Amino acid sequence: MNHPVPPLAVRRAFPAALLDALKTAFAERVSTTAAVREHHGRDESPFDPQLPDAVVFVISTEEVQTVVRLCAEYNVPVIPYGNGSSLEGHLLAVQGGVSIDMSGLNQVLSIDAEDLTVTVQPGISRKQLNEALKDTGLFFPIDPGADASIGGMSATRASGTNAVRYGTMRENVLGLTVVLADGRVIKTGTRARKSSAGYDLTRLFVGSEGTLGVIVEITVRLYPQPEAVSAAVCAFPSMGDAVRATIETIQMGVPVARVEFLDSLAVRAINRHSNLTFRESPMLFFEFHGTESSVKEQAETVQEIVAQNSGTDFEWATRPEDRSRLWNARHNAYFAMLQLKPGSRAVTTDVCVPISRLAECVIETEQDLKASTLPCPIVGHVGDGNFHVAMLLDPARPEELEEAERINHRIVERALRMGGTCTGEHGVGLHKMGFLIDEHGEDAISVMRSIKHALDPKNLMNPGKIFSYDA
Ligand SMILES: Cc1cc2nc3c(=O)[nH]c(=O)nc-3n(C[C@H](O)[C@H](O)[C@H](O)COP(=O)(O)OP(=O)(O)OC[C@H]3O[C@@H](n4cnc5c(N)ncnc54)[C@H](O)[C@@H]3O)c2cc1C
Repeated sequence: MNHPVPPLAVRRAFPAALLDALKTAFAERVSTTAAVREHHGRDESPFDPQLPDAVVFVISTEEVQTVVRLCAEYNVPVIPYGNGSSLEGHLLAVQGGVSIDMSGLNQVLSIDAEDLTVTVQPGISRKQLNEALKDTGLFFPIDPGADASIGGMSATRASGTNAVRYGTMRENVLGLTVVLADGRVIKTGTRARKSSAGYDLTRLFVGSEGTLGVIVEITVRLYPQPEAVSAAVCAFPSMGDAVRATIETIQMGVPVARVEFLDSLAVRAINRHSNLTFRESPMLFFEFHGTESSVKEQAETVQEIVAQNSGTDFEWATRPEDRSRLWNARHNAYFAMLQLKPGSRAVTTDVCVPISRLAECVIETEQDLKASTLPCPIVGHVGDGNFHVAMLLDPARPEELEEAERINHRIVERALRMGGTCTGEHGVGLHKMGFLIDEHGEDAISVMRSIKHALDPKNLMNPGKIFSYDA
């Protein structure tokens, strides 16, 4: 397989005249302090930080245009910053440049309850959005484990535990407003639920990781709060049994809202971290949404499937507070797992395979991990065929990083062989660049380069990410 370490990029010059111009335009909202640059030059990946030369805190589309135009004039990179929760080195300023912090662009612009849509600025986080929606009877379902920004989630094509029922950002973003590399502003899409009007630019920018433009407005779909919600957990003697129960649930067309897998090590981690007492064996967490009767029907079908696959200890969480305890524990699983090895950082895999190949992929991976000296808990949005191995390593021991990367390669190789992808939801960033040719082929990457060239010929927008590109 072809997975070169991303080449060490050369930092570009950061002219004093550009800093002066930024200071004139933004005064105290430009920072060059080490702490602020450090904060913006890293994400949740195990990579060492690579600092931007300056950080600008913007509060309007016009200000984003100003930064982008000034950077274009001085040939300096621009890196949009959402909430810093990405996992693949997306935010590292490998060529230096200006980080545009979007957190001040965090308004809800319009809630169109009758159309089930909302238009927001990109810096609003998914929790802030749901807080703003709480009196409308509607909600926005996409829930990465971190409280990511809607802009960052659009830019990484994120998903989470609800995607099996409600889809990912790909299905839920209806339209965007984007500042292009030359400062022009374009709108993609409308609030209509469907459209055949030309190339689908919305989907081009969703998942573009800041490499094609800066997203400044986003219209997303909303959903009515379900009339009834019920959640359950159950334990299995093996990972294979748990995954087979999931596959049958999906293949039977049961519209589960969530089905999440945890292996026994991940269960140990959340037990310790969230003060729970689950049996330390592979588990599935389910949630059902619908009317009282449809939830009951879904739950009965799933209970039968679970029993046929040797599942036991079926426990219900019907009260809202029990459900939030359960899902908070699941959402905190990443940080809980890090505590299995104090001081560790995680290399996290993110493969996604067709559901029919999921059991085979998980079982082969489990065998593979047995030989590893690293703790490697597994969690997964298994209803989508997506699972994560968190390989916990001591950042001071390079041999552990090498081992994690070897395992990562084998897992990706396995997923691609089974018709899957190297990344189901985290995106490419720096870390998965080497896998793209294996997944898409040279010609497809060359089409991606042509698109990059058309929109960002000077390679100023988050350069050095997704694929190599020389301006
Ligand atoms: C504990 C934990 C759990 C997670 N669980 C999940 C999960 O279940 N599912 C999932 O999909 N991800 C998950 N993630 C990864 C992460 O939360 C997502 O990738 C998220 O979408 C990143 O959003 P952010 O606002 O933090 O973006 P950032 O990390 O700030 O940025 C991510 C990328 O988007 C670009 N970007 C940000 N804002 C804009 C903008 N306005 N315009 C253009 N480009 C922009 C950045 O340049 C960068 O390339 C998890 C991360 C953690 C730490």
